[in-house]
Amino acid sequence: MIKKLDKQLVADTLRQAYERCKSNTEGKNANYIPYLANIPSDLFGIAAALPDGEIITVGDTDYRFGIESVSKVPTALLAMNQYSGREVLEKIGADATGLPFNSIMAILLEKDHPSTPLVNAGAISACSMIKPQGDANSKWQSIINFISELTGSQVEVIEELYQSETATNFNNKSIAWLLKNYDRIYDDPDMALDIYTRQCSIGITTQQLAVMGATIANRGINPLTGRCVFKAELAPKIISMMATVGFYEHSGNWLFSTGLPAKTGVGGGILGVVPNIIGLAAFAPPLDDSGNSVKAQQALSYIVGHLNLNIFENGIYCNMDQKVSIEA
Ligand code: GLU
Repeated sequence: MIKKLDKQLVADTLRQAYERCKSNTEGKNANYIPYLANIPSDLFGIAAALPDGEIITVGDTDYRFGIESVSKVPTALLAMNQYSGREVLEKIGADATGLPFNSIMAILLEKDHPSTPLVNAGAISACSMIKPQGDANSKWQSIINFISELTGSQVEVIEELYQSETATNFNNKSIAWLLKNYDRIYDDPDMALDIYTRQCSIGITTQQLAVMGATIANRGINPLTGRCVFKAELAPKIISMMATVGFYEHSGNWLFSTGLPAKTGVGGGILGVVPNIIGLAAFAPPLDDSGNSVKAQQALSYIVGHLNLNIFENGIYCNMDQKVSIEA
């Protein structure tokens, strides 16, 4: 069976998803980071990026919001690109914790590994791995340059968000030092925590996030710049991590319901990847109890269902010149 995507159909589907979800007022902005509590709750954007570089958008897709935990995806990829998938697996792991993203209990329960780079513990550990070792500024340049390469455009920290997170990240400080206790921090713990906090404070638009998704879907080739950003063999590795733990303790429910590997952040963004087909992103600040954007989840669910993008369906191939059709 071969599935083919038509650009007009994608555009129509994004518009329908937007119209269906825009009036939903459920959920609340994250309030444990003061900056996020004050973002207008009615912002809402959806974007799709196709492998030929075409970007389809609806709503507030130029608004720069805090990338937050979605930043864990590029840093995990960068660590795998600098070392290898196997070394990241050995040093950090790739297991779902089944617990909230900032759980200290998860570290205590699994003290030989921080579980996965897509929860706070593993992400702080991944930041500590980033080369060059021992040099905070150069490590940071590696991360921000890598994210800019993935999105095909420059990204920057939202300074006010960084200050807000730095003033309130007591739980993450405990995580960094607890990991140090278990020899799972591979550089200075305070430096790793600061780099993690900075990466969470990067401002990103829904459009940029969709291009990041398309670069991953394209096995490392950015569809806008044509540049090879990471080793092709790492695409299935990072997509598997997103599938396993992208929605924290609700990752199983999300994957069961949609079949879309995706990563959420408490800034309200969600990044979705359909291998070889499309990068998807949605943004709306109000979150459910687990820290996942209510409207972004709804919109992506609708799009994936409507375009039959569930990755567990067989035989998905991309041909954007024809309408979606099922062929024997
Ligand atoms: N900076 C946030 C934290 O460490 C990110 C959380 C998230 O987006 O899940 O708590």
